[in-house]
Amino acid sequence: MALDSKSVSLTFPDGNARSFDAGVTPAQVAADISTSLAKKAISATVNGQHWDLQWPIDADADIAIHTMKDEVQANELIRHDLAHIMARAVQEIWPATKVTIGPVIENGWYYDFDREEPFTPEDLGLIEKKMKEIINKRDPVTTEVWDRQRAIEFYTANNEPYKVELIEAIPGDEPLRMYWHGHWQDLCRGPHLQHTGQVPGDAFKLMSIAGAYWRGDSDRAMLQRIYGVAFTGKEKLKAYLHMLEEAAKRDHRKLGREMDLFHMQEEAPGQIFWHPNGWTIYTLLQDYMRRQQRKGGYVEVNTPQVVDRKLWERSGHWDKYQENMFIVEVDEEHAREKAVNALKPMNCPCHVEIFKQGLKSYRDLPLRMAEFGSCNRYEPSGALHGIMRVRGFTQDDAHIFSTEEQIEAETAEFIRFLSVIYKDLGFEKFAVKFSDRPETRAGSDEVWDKAESALLSATRAAGIEPELNPGEGAFYGPKLEFVLTDAIGRDWQCGTFQVDFVLPERLDATYIGADGGKHRPVMLHRATLGSFERFIGILIEEHAGKLPFWLAPRQVVVASITSEADDYVMEVVDTLKAAGVRAEADIRNEKINYKVREHSVGKVPVILAVGHREVEERTVSVRRLGEKQTQVQPLDVVTKELSQAATPPDLL
Ligand SMILES: [Zn+2]
Ligand SMILES: [Zn+2]
Repeated sequence: MALDSKSVSLTFPDGNARSFDAGVTPAQVAADISTSLAKKAISATVNGQHWDLQWPIDADADIAIHTMKDEVQANELIRHDLAHIMARAVQEIWPATKVTIGPVIENGWYYDFDREEPFTPEDLGLIEKKMKEIINKRDPVTTEVWDRQRAIEFYTANNEPYKVELIEAIPGDEPLRMYWHGHWQDLCRGPHLQHTGQVPGDAFKLMSIAGAYWRGDSDRAMLQRIYGVAFTGKEKLKAYLHMLEEAAKRDHRKLGREMDLFHMQEEAPGQIFWHPNGWTIYTLLQDYMRRQQRKGGYVEVNTPQVVDRKLWERSGHWDKYQENMFIVEVDEEHAREKAVNALKPMNCPCHVEIFKQGLKSYRDLPLRMAEFGSCNRYEPSGALHGIMRVRGFTQDDAHIFSTEEQIEAETAEFIRFLSVIYKDLGFEKFAVKFSDRPETRAGSDEVWDKAESALLSATRAAGIEPELNPGEGAFYGPKLEFVLTDAIGRDWQCGTFQVDFVLPERLDATYIGADGGKHRPVMLHRATLGSFERFIGILIEEHAGKLPFWLAPRQVVVASITSEADDYVMEVVDTLKAAGVRAEADIRNEKINYKVREHSVGKVPVILAVGHREVEERTVSVRRLGEKQTQVQPLDVVTKELSQAATPPDLL
């Protein structure tokens, strides 16, 4: 409580409270604590809100002063200030340029400009140089609150029509906040740093130029957007740029071409044409998953692709999910009536329909029902990305019908199941995210309590402390998400495990309990890989195309050094094939180095070269992908070793 109307009580993170004059700014609070904090401070959090050091505090509040050590706030401010500094630099170099908006985005920011001349890649260097000058000037950042009329007159006088339009689009007539970086002004909500010198001058980079319509409207002006990235330090920028370079090398779309795995074309956006090599990976992975599921006590089913809207209405998808569904209209019986169907976007309702066939008893539970379910979802074309984000995909989907009491044991079993698979596929570690009850939800608190604690204790029993996503559960139940980190530090959410109290009720699924009465099963939706398509994309990028030997579509090329070795080449290929190795011959009349280079681009893990000597000694010269050395080894030894390596890990 304030002592009187002229003072406010501020509570610090350590719990101590102190009294200040009302209207005190965080800058003054910091100065009151120490001169060094006053210098180092970048912003504050006041009652949970990110607060500029210059903004007054008029009521009692919780306060925390931030410095560059607070990564989240520091990154936001650095990127945001750089957006302003970049716009100032552009207008200083090309004064006729008009400014529009410049938000902070992941890892950086962008700013959209209206300028007749297109920016060139060389211009980015010029702008960066000017930005560094502005940073070195340590120009103060100042802010004022203006009424709308004054702001509109100001921008009209300065010939900044986009700013005028922005202000006119802001509803209400509350005053507007203006910011200055030195002499340069922008309309902005803030907060900002103290002065331009607080931005680390060596930890940002302008990345690219793109076209963007004003307000995203293709009828409006085409603007030029400049993207930048920024971090709190030089090392972090370096690491990020290195990650981007690595990601480009590993891009599954590029490797997919080089390895001849798949292609996509405009007649089927977001759908994959799998080539023989790619389909080999796909079927190997599917065979592997099928064996694991059998071992894990799942039954496999298959359900229709085209399903009448009536089922989707009952399941609730027609209402909640229609914009993502491909609708299929069929003229039945001489077009007297149109049947409206949808391609299934998920398999869940069809599995409930199988569950409902015949009477189920508590003895049938848990019933683990799996399907490699082919689904179609409409994704906007801008969201599509290679085979990672598509419109047609196949989930390694399953639904476990269980009692409430079985949730915990099934969760534990699934985490075990998934750990084995991730490990086999080369991912030793994964993180788990736990999403609990959202504000709007179905089911009683008592049921939610049980389900949440079941998920949590099973996860902890597996030795994993889940990261909490508060309130992020679905309205029908809490969930776990399993996140892989790849070789270059990117996270991929793959597995899910989701409790559902609602769908069994909507579709009226029941079982007979031990008490002889009818009960509702709980439905546990779960996927391990997510979708085969996306997971294969992740595998390709994780391994930079050098897939584990058992998953490599082309495992061995036997290449002749001289045409006199051709017969022996064919013999080696046959021997390897008989031993379960995917081997092929290359007896083209080309130099061996040429052959090696070509198959290395295709990421063939092993090339066996044979010439006179190998024919006579019944050996092969082994060259492994990425190694310079070759090693001459007896054919039977190599065959045995490769046959072993070609065996999927669960069959060893
Ligand atoms: Zn701003
Ligand atoms: Zn499901």
